[in-house]
Amino acid sequence: HAKEAERGTASVFDPVMHLRATGRLRAQSELRTALAEEQFVVHYQPVVALDGGALTQMEALVRWNHPDRGILLPADFLPVMAETGTIVVLGQWLIDTVCAQIAQWQQEYAGPVTVAVNLSHREFWATQLLSTVTTALEQHGIGPESLILEITESVIMSDPDAARQIMSDLHAVGIRMHIDDFGTGQSSLHALRAFPVDALKIDQSFIHQIDIDHQTTELVRIIVGMGRTLGLEVVAEGVETTAQADRLRTMGCATAQGWLFAAAVPGEEAGRMLGRPLGPRVPTQR
Ligand code: C2E
Ligand code: MG
Ligand code: MG
Ligand code: MG
Repeated sequence: HAKEAERGTASVFDPVMHLRATGRLRAQSELRTALAEEQFVVHYQPVVALDGGALTQMEALVRWNHPDRGILLPADFLPVMAETGTIVVLGQWLIDTVCAQIAQWQQEYAGPVTVAVNLSHREFWATQLLSTVTTALEQHGIGPESLILEITESVIMSDPDAARQIMSDLHAVGIRMHIDDFGTGQSSLHALRAFPVDALKIDQSFIHQIDIDHQTTELVRIIVGMGRTLGLEVVAEGVETTAQADRLRTMGCATAQGWLFAAAVPGEEAGRMLGRPLGPRVPTQR
């Protein structure tokens, strides 16, 4: 199964329990060591046009290549980092690393490259977010149109007025904002209209129910339609089957992301996908 393949050699060791048990100070020193020893890696998953398969952007997804425990996925370590606040430091490293990768790809491939970065609550509300991002863009000599920031509805709704201000500041320098896991939160498309949002990413739990649950299928159709009406790009997350892709295309959904096209892969491998269309692949193929 592709998810297991993605997990690599992840062990039964539970890093969440471990970090929780060892406490905040230990977590911070482990993070520093991991950053210093370059144990974190960024994998990239293509987002493709459903019509034609052109790669439109990449999503950066962090992994922890732990010396003893193998490749750890975000769910294994981000919750504790969010609790302790170390996620902000990881995020700063990630934004810098992604900008360096964009600069390298733009040189090698000589075309526009756009990468989306996920922001957790803590990262979004960190006072230095705007300067972290603009500094990284400047240092690597890339334009704001190369970077997308993904946040969830719950980040916005936790303090809508303050969130609108932060999003507007980011937008003002040219950075696009995407709503991740759309449909799982409490907000309505109508409420989101008041925010500088460029795209909705429909949560994979909806996509996996296409043609299985009638109501969810219709909900996806409505989200796609309303998104288009509001002039938003709509991305379907977690597309695993050609049936899902076909149905989404018929609904008018322009872009998708999922194992049907490609899993998240290391930068070098992702770079080889730039500039060539990605058709559906056999799920067992990596
Ligand atoms: P997300 O942003 O919604 O990312 C999509 C997740 O779905 C990724 O899991 C990706 O590997 C997985 N995925 C992609 N295609 C498919 C598919 O076809 N089927 C299925 N079942 N899954 C698919 P991953 O990499 O484990 O990341 C999980 C979550 O962790 C992300 O959800 C995001 O919220 C968070 N995350 C990942 N990297 C970062 C990061 O650098 N910073 C922050 N703050 N959060 C991150
Ligand atoms: Mg995301
Ligand atoms: Mg998502
Ligand atoms: Mg998610």
